[in-house]
Amino acid sequence: FESRLLAANDLPAETLDGVAVSLRANIEKPDEIALVKQYRAAGVGLYRTEFLFLSTDRMPTEDQQYAAYREIVAGLAPAPVTIRTLDVGGDKPLPGDPTLIGPEANPFLGFRAIRMCLENPELFKTQLRAILRASAHGKVEVMYPMISGVEELDRANSLLAEAKAELRQRNLAFDDNVSVGTMIEIPSAAIAGDLLAERSGFFSIGTNDLIQYLLAIDRGNSRIAHLYDPTHPAVIRVLRQIVETGHARGLKVSVCGEMAGDALYAPLLLGLGVDELSMTPTLVPSVRYLVRAMKMSDAKKLAAEALKQSDAKKTFALVEAFYNERM
Ligand code: PEP
Ligand code: MG
Repeated sequence: FESRLLAANDLPAETLDGVAVSLRANIEKPDEIALVKQYRAAGVGLYRTEFLFLSTDRMPTEDQQYAAYREIVAGLAPAPVTIRTLDVGGDKPLPGDPTLIGPEANPFLGFRAIRMCLENPELFKTQLRAILRASAHGKVEVMYPMISGVEELDRANSLLAEAKAELRQRNLAFDDNVSVGTMIEIPSAAIAGDLLAERSGFFSIGTNDLIQYLLAIDRGNSRIAHLYDPTHPAVIRVLRQIVETGHARGLKVSVCGEMAGDALYAPLLLGLGVDELSMTPTLVPSVRYLVRAMKMSDAKKLAAEALKQSDAKKTFALVEAFYNERM
């Protein structure tokens, strides 16, 4: 089985009916570049920058961040690297400055990610300048986590514009046309996604959080883990809605949550119209294998059937049968 997957590693991620699928990698550290190359991912779809902040007890400086981002961007150029701005809080505390995010009764509903960044504009702009400087060394896309509505997106973008102006004053190079995307991982962002689409370069769906918030299931609570259900009819409908909303505005729609790297669910996502999947590097071979074993027309039929189901277990059975017939 492993050897079958590895044999497909050097072949294109293309369906039997000739549709090329973009498979990218999720990474946290520069030393993962080797894995991205080994598994021939088409770049990085989610670079979780938290690691830089969580591994020291001081905030990383602009230059320290720039060095890490540049290493990844230059190391993978010309392949694109989607750098997500800081997503601390929730399940990811911030040792660098414990006063920034205090104890909270509901951390997942609390002061995390873009919310914390917008209240700490200097911290946020330091990261944005470092990301922009890295964009001079390859293809960078910026991505904001935990956007709930237009105001946050507009404020983030105006801080990005300030960061660019500051770099211009310092005569530092960056890609002025850097693409800026929005993570869709809060139900409000999915439901009012048309408003965000007007202001976004692309959408990337964070299914880990999106499912957690849609179903009110703490993603880290093992007692209710069996209720965390990617085939719940509400999840399938919302995914479809996000894809339609993004496509109506001509946006690329990716998925970078764990669902994307699960070969069981990848056909369903592609059938729903998702343009790109981003996953842990070691999972790329199994998803590539399945993509090469399926027709996109069959994945579309699978998604159409899934959209008709009222029972999540029925949908799961359809998804599982699709997978078993091809693996
Ligand atoms: C997600 O929520 O699906 C996601 C990709 O982000 P994270 O798991 O880092 O919250
Ligand atoms: Mg998330």
